[in-house]
Amino acid sequence: MVDFALPEEIEKIRDMTREFAQKELRPAAAELDLMQDPEAAYTSDTMRRVLSRAYEIGFHKMMLGRDIGGLGAPAMTSTIVQEELAVGDAGFASHLLVAPMIAGSAAAAKDRHPFYAEYLDAFVNDTKGEHGGAWAITEPQHGSDLFQFGQPSIHMEANAVRDGDDYVVNGQKSAFVSNGWMADAFLLMVHVGNGDGMESTATFAIPGDLPGMSRGKPLNKLGLRTLNQGEVFFDDVRIPAEFLVMPGGPAYKMLIERIVTGGNTAVGTLAVGVARAAYEEALAYAKERVQGDTVIFDHQVVKMTLFNAFRQIEAARALLWKSSWLLSTGKPHLPTAMAARTFASDMAMQVTADMIQVFGGYGISKENPVEKFYRDAKLLQIMDGTNEVVSLRAAEEL
Ligand SMILES: Cc1cc2nc3c(=O)[nH]c(=O)nc-3n(C[C@H](O)[C@H](O)[C@H](O)COP(=O)(O)OP(=O)(O)OC[C@H]3O[C@@H](n4cnc5c(N)ncnc54)[C@H](O)[C@@H]3O)c2cc1C
Repeated sequence: MVDFALPEEIEKIRDMTREFAQKELRPAAAELDLMQDPEAAYTSDTMRRVLSRAYEIGFHKMMLGRDIGGLGAPAMTSTIVQEELAVGDAGFASHLLVAPMIAGSAAAAKDRHPFYAEYLDAFVNDTKGEHGGAWAITEPQHGSDLFQFGQPSIHMEANAVRDGDDYVVNGQKSAFVSNGWMADAFLLMVHVGNGDGMESTATFAIPGDLPGMSRGKPLNKLGLRTLNQGEVFFDDVRIPAEFLVMPGGPAYKMLIERIVTGGNTAVGTLAVGVARAAYEEALAYAKERVQGDTVIFDHQVVKMTLFNAFRQIEAARALLWKSSWLLSTGKPHLPTAMAARTFASDMAMQVTADMIQVFGGYGISKENPVEKFYRDAKLLQIMDGTNEVVSLRAAEEL
């Protein structure tokens, strides 16, 4: 039985998140977005204050099970919360989405190395926003290639070579690694062996301060400017074999597809949040701005533009809820996730552009928030695989 009514408990969580997003995330993001130097933004008191508040509430551990100290939110609840956070600011929402990346792996591997239990404990009890993970897979020469299977000559350049009880890792991950500049732990994917294509990518869950690891400058970019992204370098980094969580082989393809199915459902949800933020601002403006002796909302073409935005947002959300529901049943469906994500992010690009149009000339001004939403939306067509490449991958499953 399909039911769109939310239980009262989830409505309360949604309303609390909405208030937090409006009061804390939106104004902080507007301030940080205008800062020219990303390093200054990420080390600012504003950044620290907002992350502390978010961690105090527990947004960073929402999806982790209660048995390991998380809040145990089901996939649907997470989706609802992520949309609300993204209405406030999609950059902060992305940060909170990526942060638990290692804590989840640490829970599964906690008997294998003392680091995991210590990290998990620090993460779930963090009320200052000091701990967070990142997923480091893409490289300067291999972005979309992460979906290239069965081609022996295409593989990661960063590699791990077994040496006694350790692996020795050399190479670099790209400037796009979300949370890459601030993270204190990484899910790291590197090549093992000679040739054998992307399938020979091994996955390690590691501390972020191993000797020989270093970071580049945080990426200075178009949108999602509250999300820190940055390069990670590995120079003869010794990684104990206990940190290997997946050895490569057929497991690599399964792991990637699982990550991108969940990840892309989340990226699409962020896009719905960004589109909704722009729509809500434009609707309020259209009911106040007077031209031709009437509020512009009463001009049919403006009203239609707003209705079209509403229609697109509702359609995108419905697709995403279906993908979330499939995740919650333990049967993630890659084509549904990719359909939902590509539809939502293309929609957000169109809707944010249209909402600038509703604002007229005032829409391009940094005095108004809609130009930021337009810049944020663009990144969501590329994050976790470009819309083109994830669509091609999904099409193979039809
Ligand atoms: C906001 C954001 C967050 C990100 N977060 C992370 C992260 O946490 N960790 C991480 O490791 N990476 C992250 N990335 C990197 C992201 O996964 C890559 O940017 C993406 O996979 C594309 O790779 P690329 O940038 O190298 O572009 P390329 O792969 O060079 O693509 C360039 C163009 O060629 C097209 N193209 C490439 N290959 C094909 C093909 N086979 N068929 C058809 N067209 C093709 C693409 O669609 C694109 O238009 C993030 C990126 C963004 C924008």
